[in-house]
Amino acid sequence: MRVFSLPMRTRFRGITVREGVLLPGEAGWGEWSPFLEYDPVVAEPWLRCAEEAAAGDWPAPVRTSVPVNVTVPAVDAARAHAIVVAGGCTTAKVKVAEPGQAPGEDEARLEAVRDALGPAGKVRIDVNGGWSVEEALARLPVLDRAAGGLEYVEQPCADVEELAAVRRAVDVPVAADESIRRAADPYRVRDLEAADVAVLKVQPLGGVRACLRIADDIGLPVVVSSALESSVGLAAGVALAAALPDLPYACGLATAQLLAADTVRDPLLPVGGALPVRLPTAAVDPADFPSAAPDRVAHWQARLAEVRALRGLGQDHRS
Ligand SMILES: [Mg+2]
Repeated sequence: MRVFSLPMRTRFRGITVREGVLLPGEAGWGEWSPFLEYDPVVAEPWLRCAEEAAAGDWPAPVRTSVPVNVTVPAVDAARAHAIVVAGGCTTAKVKVAEPGQAPGEDEARLEAVRDALGPAGKVRIDVNGGWSVEEALARLPVLDRAAGGLEYVEQPCADVEELAAVRRAVDVPVAADESIRRAADPYRVRDLEAADVAVLKVQPLGGVRACLRIADDIGLPVVVSSALESSVGLAAGVALAAALPDLPYACGLATAQLLAADTVRDPLLPVGGALPVRLPTAAVDPADFPSAAPDRVAHWQARLAEVRALRGLGQDHRS
């Protein structure tokens, strides 16, 4: 296994370095990069995704490219404008409700994003569960106006019950992201009618084929998003997006742009607002990317051993 340690261009999800592991298999490499705070039970499905990739066990694609959104972190308006212009995408996902920022910063950021996209572009916002229901009902009309219309709001509140309450009260469509982390979660979102859109991430949900089954079961449009993977891990998300029968929304897979280095020589970056479906994963040469310090390698080896030990116990951790 190879442990990578990639600096990020901007702090995102509270991190400035993205660490993970590349695991070799019969068909190539798979990425295992559960976030550092995740325990072995949570990190186990992420490993299934890496193993599926390394084995080359992906379904056949039904499209040759995947439309993607540019991701705008909680930066100032000028920076947001520049990110959207440089991204070359017609859909932007904008982080809002960043702790420590004034509400007016969200409005300014959204106005700048709309200005950069033009009237035909699509703007979605991601709250990462940062609002109460009351805050969501107060803020959404304001941000909808600032953005010149919102495509949808992602995870306005933390709980799935709160998402359902917001969805019943507002016209802006609601997407569930953090509410979908374990395999059973999408069904709960569906049963509570908590979202119009399901954000699926291949690593936490156990791989491409597992996500295809979920998408088929829940009957909601799916947006495939990354977990801030390197391009090796992103390829699994592309494999899912490429295999879905319907793909009505741009996906959140253009996040290689957030990394200042990558695990492959030819990173999965969008061209004309879309990622090429280039499967299997491009060849990995460990000489191409910054490897982690010895103590971090030891940390990941121990983590992997913990997950494998958990499997050895035969616990039912797949639900
Ligand atoms: Mg999100």
